[in-house]
Amino acid sequence: MSRTLPVNKNDYIDVVFEDLTHDGAGVAKVEGYPIFVQNGLPGEKAKVKVIKANKGYGFGRLIELYEKSPYRVDIPNNEKHKYGGCQLEHISYEGQLQYKENQVRQVLTRIGKLEDVIVHPILGMDNPLRYRNKAQVPVGKKDGKLIAGFFKPRSHEIVDTDESVIQLPEVNEAVQAVKEICSGLGIPAYQEESHKGVLRHIMARYGKQTGELMVVIISKTSEIPHQKRIVEEIIARLPKVKSIVHNINSKRTNVILGEKTTVLWGNEVIYDYIGDVKFAISALSFYQVNPVQTKVLYDKALEYANLTGEELVIDAYCGIGTISLFLAQKAKKVFGVEVVPEAIEDAKRNAELNGIKNAEFAAGEAEIVIPKWYKEGNVADVLVVDPPRKGCDEALLQTIIEMKPKKVVYVSCNPATLARDLRILEDGGYKTVEVQPVDMFPMTTHVECVSQLVLK
Ligand code: SAH
Repeated sequence: MSRTLPVNKNDYIDVVFEDLTHDGAGVAKVEGYPIFVQNGLPGEKAKVKVIKANKGYGFGRLIELYEKSPYRVDIPNNEKHKYGGCQLEHISYEGQLQYKENQVRQVLTRIGKLEDVIVHPILGMDNPLRYRNKAQVPVGKKDGKLIAGFFKPRSHEIVDTDESVIQLPEVNEAVQAVKEICSGLGIPAYQEESHKGVLRHIMARYGKQTGELMVVIISKTSEIPHQKRIVEEIIARLPKVKSIVHNINSKRTNVILGEKTTVLWGNEVIYDYIGDVKFAISALSFYQVNPVQTKVLYDKALEYANLTGEELVIDAYCGIGTISLFLAQKAKKVFGVEVVPEAIEDAKRNAELNGIKNAEFAAGEAEIVIPKWYKEGNVADVLVVDPPRKGCDEALLQTIIEMKPKKVVYVSCNPATLARDLRILEDGGYKTVEVQPVDMFPMTTHVECVSQLVLK
């Protein structure tokens, strides 16, 4: 059938890029047939080699740029920059912000069929580098030494990386230190194919406001050779470390963390502040990765909740209670729900830590717990949701529609599922008033949004 396509595999063609996909690839069209090319930017003219020609679309490789976009910035041509997870690093920050704002607008119209919703200009960072407070990197072995870094796309080959441009220096330093310490002590890397070996991942998390560091060593085996030495050397090399944790993941899986966690040294948690609220964070709990922009996001969520002190609030997908405790200061009562039991333990501890008495937390799935609360007669005035990338469960959306909270604040890390869910809520009687994109993940294609809905 390839006869009917305007291009064939291995063709060299000249194109002009028109657009960017949601994962940051350039889109060129030949007689309406889209070709996706990594590294191409809208407006650029280029020579491209067709590497795959599917029925409805193809893939190409950039061979030569004839004309560069004014938004293009030069980055070093090496594996670290190519595979480091920074898909937009070759675009100026101004260009990145524009791209993300456009994405949000397009998706809200295309998927959400929301024509008249206000989308505010995206809130970016003053300094969009070295912002992340957490890394979790796979470990392998090369030339007799441990390596750690990034997987090459669609492969399980690890590129050894000494730093990431989006990680806080303390996080980079911690990962390097643990890698070198374990390498020096001859700890075997885990090997996926044979399911043998020991060290799978190294994780580091840093509380930017408190200066507290957590190191998590993830191994296949329940014992790590030279465990005591490893701990001693980590303490000696990383003076900010407050918690060293061992997580055991003995399964054949791509999931990073296993079920069993033990503290090797120090505290079970590290602490951090967002605004004035102090948080205890344990190894398995979700905690926003960009502390500067988290404050911006939560302030917006609080503004959209528009609380007077009389409201009953439900915070679905509450993690360690971050948004719940922010809102509790202005609400009568907040109920948080979250599926990870460890995160709920953290949330309860965090309420206590801050002397907040009007917040309660329950472990369970939001789509099960909230319908149950509703049946028991609990009706929220304001409902906040902050689901993972796949968005809200249909059963939860239906309960919201029946419960009819006056306001819904939807925090989302995936505009596509946000748009889908907003459409369901619109059809169920809500009006999306405004959407505020926030750049929580500079240099990457990810974009966060917070939206306000009111009952029509
Ligand atoms: N609001 C929090 C966490 C947001 S991340 C914050 O800002 O820090 C999304 C959270 O949803 C994660 O903690 C994840 O564990 C949780 N989660 C995923 N599926 C869930 C479900 N079905 N019900 C409740 N929580 C869920």
